[in-house]
Amino acid sequence: MNESVPFLDVRATYSELRAELDNAAIGVLQSGSYILGSELKAFEQEFATFCNADYAVGVGNGLDALQLILKAIGVGRGDEVIVPSNTFIATWLAVSHLGATIVPVEPKIETYNIDPSKIEAAITSRTKVIVPVHLYGQPAEMEPIRKIAEQNRLFVVEDAAQSHGATYNGVPVGILGHAAGFSFYPGKNLGAFGDGGAVVTNSVEISASVSRLRNYGSENKYEHLEIGFNSRLDEMQAALLRVKLRRLSKWNERRTNIAKIYLNELKGFDAFILPQLSENCKSAWHLFVIRVQDRVAFQRHMEERGVATAIHYPIPPHIQKAYFNSGMVKGNSFPISEKIHREIVSVPIGPHLRDDQVSQVVGAMKSYRE
Ligand SMILES: *Cc1c(COP(=O)(O)O)cnc(C)c1O
Repeated sequence: MNESVPFLDVRATYSELRAELDNAAIGVLQSGSYILGSELKAFEQEFATFCNADYAVGVGNGLDALQLILKAIGVGRGDEVIVPSNTFIATWLAVSHLGATIVPVEPKIETYNIDPSKIEAAITSRTKVIVPVHLYGQPAEMEPIRKIAEQNRLFVVEDAAQSHGATYNGVPVGILGHAAGFSFYPGKNLGAFGDGGAVVTNSVEISASVSRLRNYGSENKYEHLEIGFNSRLDEMQAALLRVKLRRLSKWNERRTNIAKIYLNELKGFDAFILPQLSENCKSAWHLFVIRVQDRVAFQRHMEERGVATAIHYPIPPHIQKAYFNSGMVKGNSFPISEKIHREIVSVPIGPHLRDDQVSQVVGAMKSYRE
């Protein structure tokens, strides 16, 4: 009987860093400062440095990070925002909450990321922003996207929720557009012990605006300059994230090593379509996603061999009840996204997967026949 390989064990980081995390948590508990204090300031500085950016602003979660950026750059009713048809629903929700219209653009089937060659046809006089998503950790093709944005005077907002530490032409995600939204949901490459997010930018205006918007539209206490929100990264999460941030590069390296093993070992196996990477990209390997014809059979095969799998994501956004026939989306036919959603399966990858577990995943996959 094989020991089972969980898809992800979020407790593993706590086991590794227990003493440091306990100390950080106790420090916050004793400090009496729980919101907008010194831990948040320090984390913002350190995360900005990690992204090679001028500013990071801690917010409540990844969805808010995207929404506050869009609000800061003035997106509202009547505006159109170009998003990938193939993404996690939060990318779309951020646009919808501001009353703007979602204009989905299909991905390249090879990379699952937005296809730059299809963006121009989606641009109208109402288009204000392009939101590329670095899906599964691999950066979108930012060079052509930026060029299109410049020519059409559009903002570029990165959804970097899955790609902490990834690079494109050696440049970290976070500073490849006007601003980027990160998530620190526990399962992300840099995960909090609760919800958390950050806006990263080189723009002093966007940084200042998001700093106000996350805190009731206020710069000085009880003076409110605009209709703000309450979406702040709290001191406890900031303190714990500071501990984990110091390990992030090492953890991402381990993810990369595991991905390399999978790619090497499974090369030439016809049953799977493996992830394809552009040479100029370094993926953060948030997920290792393959495509198979008969996903149900494959998942059963893996389960019988003690390996958990998952699907990211089973239903494309345009088919979700929230959006279907909602009038908030331009277009309703996205066959590439639908095909991807039908065939994808994620196999375990993560910094705390042991070598024997990696071998077990490889072995189970190699014994699969269509
Ligand atoms: C996780 C995620 C988000 C949202 O982050 P939350 O912190 O859960 O709000 C947004 N976009 C993508 C692509 C994500 O994976």
